Amino acid sequence: MIPLVKPYIAPSEELMPEIEKILYSGYIAEGEAAWKFEEEFQKFIDNPNTLVVQSGTAALHLALLSLNVSTGDEVISTPMTAEPTNTTIAFTGAKVVWGDVDPDTGLLDPKSVREKITDRTKAIMLVHYAGMVCDMDEFNKISEETGIPVIEDTAHCLGGKYNGKVIGANSQYTCFSFQAIKQMTTVDGGAIAFRNPEEVEPARKLRWFGLDKKVSRLQNDITRAGYKYGINNITGIIGQVQLRHAQEVLDKYISNGKFYDEALKGIPGVTLIPYYKNTEPSYWLYTLKVDNRDDFCKIMEDADVLASPLHHRSDTHSVFRESICDLPGMEEWYKNFVHIPCGWWVDEESREKIADVIKRGW
Ligand SMILES: *Cc1c(COP(=O)(O)O)cnc(C)c1O
Repeated sequence: MIPLVKPYIAPSEELMPEIEKILYSGYIAEGEAAWKFEEEFQKFIDNPNTLVVQSGTAALHLALLSLNVSTGDEVISTPMTAEPTNTTIAFTGAKVVWGDVDPDTGLLDPKSVREKITDRTKAIMLVHYAGMVCDMDEFNKISEETGIPVIEDTAHCLGGKYNGKVIGANSQYTCFSFQAIKQMTTVDGGAIAFRNPEEVEPARKLRWFGLDKKVSRLQNDITRAGYKYGINNITGIIGQVQLRHAQEVLDKYISNGKFYDEALKGIPGVTLIPYYKNTEPSYWLYTLKVDNRDDFCKIMEDADVLASPLHHRSDTHSVFRESICDLPGMEEWYKNFVHIPCGWWVDEESREKIADVIKRGW
């Protein structure tokens, strides 16, 4: 069965000696290997104001903490995502306010977001779902007009582009995940990129209990209780090695995505997703809309290919019951979107086969 997600791990002869060296070096906590990975990731996304953290969830939490989001505040977000986007908002005490999605793309609809803004709105949380980039022209406009900061959850979209630039410095915060099934994994990990350099130091302290690593432990004074969100040197060295391969791996996702964009055109029962102006997806999953989705998934399964919607809409979880509202765009989208395999493990022969199975119909 061709899976929808699969971790890419650098070759063992390259990775294992590096891990072993750190593991027995006597220093496995956060140190040089972690910071070197941070530096290299900063270069990769072209934003020096970036901190690496233990998870994408930690990155999202640091973004919300940087804005002091808490009880009584509202954050407008999308139900079309993996759960951590919204559970993280919930644990700050803020209310999740659902924006509707554009039924053509499954991405948060800027028109709906405008309607949901109140004087309690502290942030707008965007998700570049499945590697497709949100309508950033419109969201930048909303943020400029209202002064409400945008957090980009780009856990699905490493290497996606806006205005020709890799995502990572457009909004006030951009949050990455290096969790097992993401485009680049460090087993677990994440990063938060800031647009404003002055927000980095306070967040760096929150990453480590509230302590300042540059000042001796005895002279430190914690003014705001922080967390244990830094990475250790093992994660750091895995990150360094993985990053050497990241562009090549991403290029495979993108090449497969572009192949489907052409190969699946004009097939009865298939609706392709339009991409917003000035955006370039990085195709973590290939997303399309199909008639009779169950039948579609069945013929794919018969051909040994996994096809699935993969994500459960977040607004139906009990923890969000106070936020429940009508989302007609989401209803429409949710009926027939589906994902097919698109990652580095899908070779040219497999993608041709997948396209042929779809062309034969279901
Ligand atoms: C994976 C993921 C996260 C959280 O990342 P972790 O590294 O698992 O904490 C956040 N948002 C989305 C959309 C994700 O898919």
